[in-house]
Amino acid sequence: MGVFYKWGAGRDPGHPEIVDAHGSTLVTADGDEIVDAAAGAAVVNLGHSLEGVADAMAEQAERVGYVSTSHFSTPAVESVGGKLAAMTPGSLNAAFLVNSGSEAIEAAIKLARDYHVARGEPTREAVVGRWASYHGATLGALAASGNTARRTTYEPSLRDWPKIGPAYPYRWEYEGSPEEQAVAAARELERLVRRRGPETVAAFVAEPVGGSSIPATRPHPAYYREIRRICSEYGLLFVADEVMVGFGRTGESFACEGLGVTPDLLALGKGLSAGYAPISATMVADGVAETLEDHDHPFQHGHTYSGNPISAAVADRVLDRYTADLFAAVRRRGRRLETTLEPLARSRIVGEIRRVGLQIGIEFVADRETKAPFDPDADVADRVYDAALENGVYTYPGGGSVDGQAGDHLMLAPPLTVDDDAIEAIGEAVVSAVNRVADEEGYETT
Ligand code: PMP
Repeated sequence: MGVFYKWGAGRDPGHPEIVDAHGSTLVTADGDEIVDAAAGAAVVNLGHSLEGVADAMAEQAERVGYVSTSHFSTPAVESVGGKLAAMTPGSLNAAFLVNSGSEAIEAAIKLARDYHVARGEPTREAVVGRWASYHGATLGALAASGNTARRTTYEPSLRDWPKIGPAYPYRWEYEGSPEEQAVAAARELERLVRRRGPETVAAFVAEPVGGSSIPATRPHPAYYREIRRICSEYGLLFVADEVMVGFGRTGESFACEGLGVTPDLLALGKGLSAGYAPISATMVADGVAETLEDHDHPFQHGHTYSGNPISAAVADRVLDRYTADLFAAVRRRGRRLETTLEPLARSRIVGEIRRVGLQIGIEFVADRETKAPFDPDADVADRVYDAALENGVYTYPGGGSVDGQAGDHLMLAPPLTVDDDAIEAIGEAVVSAVNRVADEEGYETT
C-alpha cells in the first residue's frame, strides 16, 4: 500500500490524481477537467494557482523556514496576527496560530478551561455543543461535535459533553414567528445549563452558519442574540467555529458579523491560507486574554508547527485578497448559482435549497410533505455526488448527521472567485445529477 486514502465516507480509494489546477478547474492525470464546486472542502476560497503565493512561500523559506514559537516570533506571524485582529469583529485581538481547524477548536477548548481556572472556577470544564455539528476530527473537537456519523466508532473515547438541538429552521417544530422559534431554540441552552449547573460548564461552541453537517443553515439573528445573553449570564464562553464559513464565504468577512454576535473565542482555518498551506487560528477576546495574563496563568499548549513562518507568509499574502469588493461579488455569485438551481424546485426529492453567500445546501428528502429523510443505506447524497462528478463537477456530499432527523444533502461552495461559465456548468451538472437519482428512486419530476 502506498498512501492510505480511505476516509469517513467509506468510498473506494479510486481517487483520481489531480495534476494541475487553476481558478475553479481541476485537471486529472487523464487530462479531464473537473469544475471544483466545493473549493476542496470549502478551503480554496481564492481559486487554484493563485498568483503570488509561490513567491511568498519561496521568499520566506529562503529567509526563515522555521523557528519555535515557544521562544521566537517572525515578521510573517506578527503581520498575520495584526491583520486578523483588524479583520475580526469585536475585541478579538489576540491570535493563537495553529495548523488545522481541529487544532483551533482544541485550543479554544483549552483556553476556555484555562480562563475559568484562572478566575477561580475550576469546576467549569464541560463544552456544550449541538447535534448536527462538526468541529474537528481530534478527540476534544469531536467530543464537542454532534455529527453522529463521524462520532460513532469513537464514542467510548469521547468526553460525554452535553448537546442541544441544531439551529435548523427547516426542521424546527417550535411554534410562532421565525424570531420566536429562534429564541425558543436558543433557550434549550439555558435549560441545559441550569439543569447541569452553570458551575460545571466552561463554554458553548457552535458553527454560526452550518457547514458539513447541515450546510448553509442560518437561524434568525434572535437565535445568537439569545445565545450571547445566555453565555454572558451564566458565565460560559461563546466559541464560534468559523473554520468553514469565515473569510467571505457568507458574503461578509465573518458570519458572526452578519448575525450581529461577537464570540469570546473564534476558530478560523481553511480560508486563512485558502488551501495553500496548513494554518489556522484561535482568536481570543481581550477580556479572556487579559484574565489569563492578569493571573499569570500559563497556557500549556503548543504544536511544533504553530506559527510556522512559511504558512504565515502564505496567509499574510492571502489575507490581503479578502476585500469588501470580493465579498460583494460573493453575494452576486451566490445569487446567480442559486438561480441555476431553480429547476430543482420541481424535484420531489429536494426538501430545501438553502443559501448563505456562496454556500448552498441542497437537502434531499424521501417525502417533501413530511420531510422524511431517505434511508441512509440508499446513499442518495453520494449518488448525486457521483452523477455530478460524471457530469464534470466536484461537489461536497453529506448525510446521516443526526440519526433519523436530518436528511442527506449536497453542499456547493465553489471558490469565491468562481466565474459565470463555471457557475452555469455547476448548476447544469447538479440539476441533471439530482434528476437522475430521483429518476432511479422512482420519483417523477413535477
Ligand atoms: N470546524 C468546522 C466548521 C469545519 O468545517 C472543519 C473541517 N471541515 C473543522 C472544524 C476541522 O478542520 P480541519 O479539518 O482543518 O481540522
